[in-house]
Amino acid sequence: MKRRFLIMSLSLVMIVLPSIIANADDSNHEARMKMYKDYELASGVPWYEIAAVDQYERNIYKFREECKDLKYDTISICMINERWSGPENPYYYDNDSYTINLFGGIAKDGDGDGVADINNEHDVMYTMVEYLRSFDDFEGAIEAYYQKEQAVMVIKEIASLFEHFDTIVLDKRSLPVSKRYSYSFQDNYGAARSWGGARSHEGIDIFACYSTPVLSTAYGVVEIMGWNDYGGYRIGIRDIYNTYQYYAHLQGFEGDLKEGDIVEPGQVIGYVGSTGYGKEGTSGKFPPHLHFGLYKYDGRCEWAFNPYPHLRRWEKEKQ
Ligand SMILES: [Zn+2]
Repeated sequence: MKRRFLIMSLSLVMIVLPSIIANADDSNHEARMKMYKDYELASGVPWYEIAAVDQYERNIYKFREECKDLKYDTISICMINERWSGPENPYYYDNDSYTINLFGGIAKDGDGDGVADINNEHDVMYTMVEYLRSFDDFEGAIEAYYQKEQAVMVIKEIASLFEHFDTIVLDKRSLPVSKRYSYSFQDNYGAARSWGGARSHEGIDIFACYSTPVLSTAYGVVEIMGWNDYGGYRIGIRDIYNTYQYYAHLQGFEGDLKEGDIVEPGQVIGYVGSTGYGKEGTSGKFPPHLHFGLYKYDGRCEWAFNPYPHLRRWEKEKQ
């Protein structure tokens, strides 16, 4: 009985874990791409901007109480009633264009059947694309829609990745150190820290020799680079799943890599060192290792989760 329970719990963990990093419904790529391109053609809004908004919504809807039951065939855009119908509209998810306009809602009829139906994904997509199109530029549109600085940054990063690689299939992964060098790591996530007061360990330490190449684990945008008193020389990279990869204690960075650059899984971004725990340049206060952390932005806040099971999976990927 005990054993059966263990097997059941294990299989649950295996199902749930990948969905944190790449949402479980990250499929249907062909149908999604066709829809983005169709709407680009009809509206003039670039496909990768439409796709970035849809991807961002895909990344956060499970963390939004009002969007949990969202089910469209292709898209993941979850519009709240107040925006769809207008803030003072007495009809919940109104479908009448006249009253929607009257109350300042943005809902539109996308498929020409005479109603703006929240359950029709073409009506929702058309509404979103028309909203984007009503602004002078993409940034202004997403600023007005989301009213959160971090959301705007993340969506712009997703759009730049889609545009750069000309695809929405960007789920390949790599271990953050080169497998041609020796390395070792254990699950030390959540352990107590010695320096900088009471903190818990928000990552996994991968022990390796000085100068071992550090690799990007994902397709992403370099969001932060430079010195931090805890992390030493560190890099933060964001992927299309709202996941932020944090690499710390580096000896140095690769070449002329800089903030805003686009990287691929397996690309060298820096080298293992022991920097940090002091003012800029401090090194050697602990054995050389890569501190690797993962954070998820859920639309409201950003929180750390354990990279360990993901690292063990990426270890099996070809480099
Ligand atoms: Zn660490």
